[in-house]
Amino acid sequence: QGSRAFHPEDTVIKLPHTTIGGPQGFTMMAGPCSVESETHVAKMAKVAHDGGATVLRGGAFKPRTSPYSFQGLGVDGLKFLRQAADQQGMDMITEVMDEEHLEVVCQYTDMLQIGARNMQNFSLLKAVGKTNKPVLLKRGMSASIDDLLNAAEYIAAGGNHQIALSERGIRSFDDKYTRNLFDVSSVPVLHKLTHYPIIVDPSHAEGHWDLVTPMALAGTASGADGVVVEIHDNPAKAFSDGPQALKPEIFKEMTKEVFALHDVL
Ligand code: PEP
Ligand code: MN
Repeated sequence: QGSRAFHPEDTVIKLPHTTIGGPQGFTMMAGPCSVESETHVAKMAKVAHDGGATVLRGGAFKPRTSPYSFQGLGVDGLKFLRQAADQQGMDMITEVMDEEHLEVVCQYTDMLQIGARNMQNFSLLKAVGKTNKPVLLKRGMSASIDDLLNAAEYIAAGGNHQIALSERGIRSFDDKYTRNLFDVSSVPVLHKLTHYPIIVDPSHAEGHWDLVTPMALAGTASGADGVVVEIHDNPAKAFSDGPQALKPEIFKEMTKEVFALHDVL
C-alpha cells in the first residue's frame, strides 16, 4: 500500500498547525531529546517555535541503551509536552515504546513516533495501525530500505495510512566521528519507491551538534519533506543526547539556512 506504483500521489499528513508531505508540506520539527520538566520543555518549545518549527518533539518514554539511564517522565512528560506545544500553537510528536502505553500517548499527542529500536516491533506496529494518529516511523539502525517499507506496511495494513518515514542514520563500521551513518541517498530512493513523506533526523544520525546543520542541509537538498532536530539550552546538562543538541542560537541559524535552501529547490 505504500508503493508509489500502487498510489502515485504523495501522502499529505495534516496536523492542526502543520502539513507534512506534498509541495506545501516542508516541516520543521524540534525539541529536546527528553522532556525534562514542565518549565524546561516550555522554554524549548518557545525556541523551537521562534526558529520556525511547527511540531514540538520530546520523549516521555525513552528507549535508553542502559536501564540505569534516565527513562523519561512518563505520563507527566506527555502532559508537559502537550501544554508546551499548546502554549506556542504547535503540534506535538512523542515516542510510544509499547502497546501498554499507546492509549495514554494517543490521548495527548498529535503524532506518534516509533523509534529506531522498535521499527520491527510488529505487534506495536499493528496496534498503531489500528489508531487514527499520524505516525513517524524511524528507520532501524540495521534496517534496509525494504525492511523500513515493510515495517510501514504493517501500519498501513491495519488501516492507518498517515505515515511518514524518518532516516536517522544506520550503524556502520566507522562510528568514531559520527554516531551513525546518515544515508542521505535513502531520501531520493524512498521517494521513488513510496508516496510517504520523508523526515530526516540529522541529530541521531550524527550524534554531534556541529554536524547537524550540514546534514540538515544535505537532507533538505536531497528532497526531504522535513527535518527533525534536538535542541537544548544547556547541552552539557541534558538528560539524554546532549552532545547532539543544538543550542538556541545555532538552531535558529540552522533553520534559516534550511528554509532558504528549501526555497530555492
Ligand atoms: C529519539 O528521537 O529521541 C530517538 C530515541 O530516536 P531513535 O529512535 O531514532 O534512536
Ligand atoms: Mn534523542
